[in-house]
Amino acid sequence: TFQMARSWIRQNLLLVLTIVSVVLGAFVGFAMRSLELDSQTVMLVNFPGEMLMHMLKMMILPLIIASLISGLAQLDAKESGRMGSIAIAYYLITTILAVITGIILVLAIHPGDPSIKKDMGEGTVEKNVNTLDTFLDLIRNMFPENIVQATFQQVQTTYITVKPKFVKNNDPEALRAIVNGSMDTLKPSVEFKDGMNVLGIIVFCIGFGIVISQLGEQARVMVDFFVILDAIIMRLVSVIMWYSPFGIFCLIVGKILEIDDLRETARMLAMYMVTVISGLVVHSLFTLPLLYFLLTRKNPYKFMQGLLQAWITALGTASSAATLPVTFRCLEEKLGIDRRVTRFVLPVGATINMDGTALYEAVAAIFIAQMNGIELSIGQVVTVSLTATLASIGAASVPSAGLVTMLLVLTAVGLPVKDVSLIVAVDWLLDRIRTSINVLGDAFGAGIVHHLSREQLARIDAETRAGKRIS
Ligand code: ASP
Repeated sequence: TFQMARSWIRQNLLLVLTIVSVVLGAFVGFAMRSLELDSQTVMLVNFPGEMLMHMLKMMILPLIIASLISGLAQLDAKESGRMGSIAIAYYLITTILAVITGIILVLAIHPGDPSIKKDMGEGTVEKNVNTLDTFLDLIRNMFPENIVQATFQQVQTTYITVKPKFVKNNDPEALRAIVNGSMDTLKPSVEFKDGMNVLGIIVFCIGFGIVISQLGEQARVMVDFFVILDAIIMRLVSVIMWYSPFGIFCLIVGKILEIDDLRETARMLAMYMVTVISGLVVHSLFTLPLLYFLLTRKNPYKFMQGLLQAWITALGTASSAATLPVTFRCLEEKLGIDRRVTRFVLPVGATINMDGTALYEAVAAIFIAQMNGIELSIGQVVTVSLTATLASIGAASVPSAGLVTMLLVLTAVGLPVKDVSLIVAVDWLLDRIRTSINVLGDAFGAGIVHHLSREQLARIDAETRAGKRIS
């Protein structure tokens, strides 16, 4: 057995190092807290972790472009349409199941208590958001006006209020409002927000890849180009992977050093955290595996074992997008999922499929209602579940994105937006855990699409071998 353990460790060296880095990071982090280091030292401790985030994020844009286009170029339009539909159906169903799990638990456990809120004091967050505009923004982002701009900016709607008493003679907005008869109402104006518009890039690349696949022989160089680009990016990723245990270690130590007043917030929000985490546990250990088993008749826990590396990277980085390169590696190399499937569905999944985030948003909104002593009606609970789903689709795959889209859920049921400040203190931890569940959901999705498309993929392979298709 010693021999066996040794050879296992050698084969899974990277995974072992990553696990060790997480455990060690937590120990060292808590040990160093007592040293009361100054902020500059904390920054330096964090620095190698920050660089890991940079390196992973640096890969996101080329990785998404190369993987989507090369994946789709090697399928036919009919097959990609079929796969896309299965994936979208899976994303919606699992997200809604996650929300329902969260709602049942938060209503049963009832972690919120108005007397706790009094102890925590007031925070400040103010912003105008509403459901319709978030939805429209989602679509605006899908079709960016400028694909280059989409690599660094997202669309976001904000509001300006035009009221008669503020009208200035030369204010064109106000004049237009008078002409349109919409005076005294909120008028949307489109604004740009920093951060990559991944959704827009995805839509563009999907179209691009499908057209390449239809052009056939004529587009041969393009297929080759993107397939090779894809291989190059994955090679770069494997270099980063060997740096990642050290980076993850520093990220965790740095984070633990940064949190202030650990014990106090933990005590106040303990039941809330327990609710979110048990929801995530139910979803990841029961709901998703069951669905996977029913659809594929394969062992879901074995599948999860192969994903360990990606799961831990998600815990370390708190970003599904930054974890994407690792998710690819786990699925393709450890679990043997067809590249044409992963290349197509993973980038999409990492961007729009966030079961963990959806569950968290629903729990957090109802928790905030409870903290205010408000009992939500059935209608409001349904609104929470729908907006939580929308908020999870709209959330970017970066750290704490879910906290921002949380505002949408709160506004939809008329809860005080500034109460987001109640849950900020523990978001660093919940963010990591929900991100790892987001990644898990994307991976199970790829596994299911792979299983349900295996015959079609085999047919495409046979046609390629018979020389009827390129690539
Ligand atoms: N950090 C999460 C992710 O990347 C999003 C969120 O904040 O919920 O999946």
